[in-house]
Amino acid sequence: ATPTALMVGTARSAKMGVLIKNGEVLEEVSDIDTVVFDKTGTITVGKPQVTDIVGDEKQVLTIAASLEENSEHPLATAVVNKAKADKIALASVKNFAEIEGKGIKANYDNQEAFVGSDKLLEDIAISQEMKEKAIQLQKEAKTVVYVGLGQIIIGLIAIQDVPKPSSKKAITELKKRGLKTVMLTGDNQNVAEAIAQEVGIDQVIAGVLPTEKANEIKKLQDAGNKVAFVGDGINDAPALSTADVGIAMGSGTDIAIESGGIVLVQNDLMGVVRALEISKKTFNRIK
Ligand code: ADP
Ligand code: MG
Repeated sequence: ATPTALMVGTARSAKMGVLIKNGEVLEEVSDIDTVVFDKTGTITVGKPQVTDIVGDEKQVLTIAASLEENSEHPLATAVVNKAKADKIALASVKNFAEIEGKGIKANYDNQEAFVGSDKLLEDIAISQEMKEKAIQLQKEAKTVVYVGLGQIIIGLIAIQDVPKPSSKKAITELKKRGLKTVMLTGDNQNVAEAIAQEVGIDQVIAGVLPTEKANEIKKLQDAGNKVAFVGDGINDAPALSTADVGIAMGSGTDIAIESGGIVLVQNDLMGVVRALEISKKTFNRIK
C-alpha cells in the first residue's frame, strides 16, 4: 500500500478506537485466518462474582478469603469481596505462596491450607459427591476453586464471570468472514466449553499454564495458520508477541498493551472486526 493509504487506514481505525502501531501490523491483519482469545477480561467482563459455596459456608469463606486477601488474581478479589459483603472477619496467614495458573497456599491456624484448581489437589482425596457438584457448577459456566485444610477438602467456591455484551456478536462476525475462533485459557475444560458455547467460539484449549500460552500459539502457527491473539493479562504478553498479530485490550495490563501491535481502546471484541475491515479495505485498494 502507498504510505498515504496506510496513514488513512491507521487514522480511520484510530477514530474507531482501534490503535494500530504501524502499517506492517495493518497489513498482517489482512492475512489472519485464526483468532485466539484469552477468556477472563477478554471474552468475559473480568469481574468475577461468587455465586455458590459448597460446605460450611462460613468456614469455607473465612479460610479462603484469609488466603486470597494476599493475592491479586481476579478470583481472589471475588472471594474477598464476598467475605466483606458477608461481614466475615479474616485471619492473618503465614508462608503465603502463589502457584501460577493453579492457585494459592498458606498456613492457616498452623495447618496447610490452599485455594485453587484441581491441579493443586495432588494426592488429596475428594468425595464423589463433591466431584459431581464441581462438574455441575462448571457446566453452568462457573469456575470452581477447591478449598483445602490439612489433608481435607472442606468445600468449593463457584465464581462466575459473564461474557461482555458484544462478545457473541463479534465472534459471529468473525466466523461470517471465514475466520476460525479459538479460546485459550488456564481455566477448566468444562467451564471453558460452557462459555465458548455461549458466545459461539469454535475450539477450546483449556487448562493451559501461563507459561504455555505462547507455545499453544506457536503450535497453531506450525499447523499453517496465520494467528491473531487477543488478550489483556500479564500472562498474555508472550502470546501477544508470538502471534502474527497481537491485540491487547485497552483495559489490560501495561505489559499486555506494550506487547500488542493493536490496542482496542473500547475493550470490546468488535474492535477485532473493525481492524479486519480496515485492513482489507486498505490493502485491496492498491492490489
Ligand atoms: P486465566 O487463563 O483465566 O487467566 P489463570 O492461569 O490465572 O487463568 O488461572 C487458572 C486457574 O488457576 C483458575 O481458573 C483457578 O482455578 C486457579 N487459580 C489461579 N489463581 C488463583 C487464586 N488466586 N485463587 C484461586 N484459584 C486460582
Ligand atoms: Mg485475562
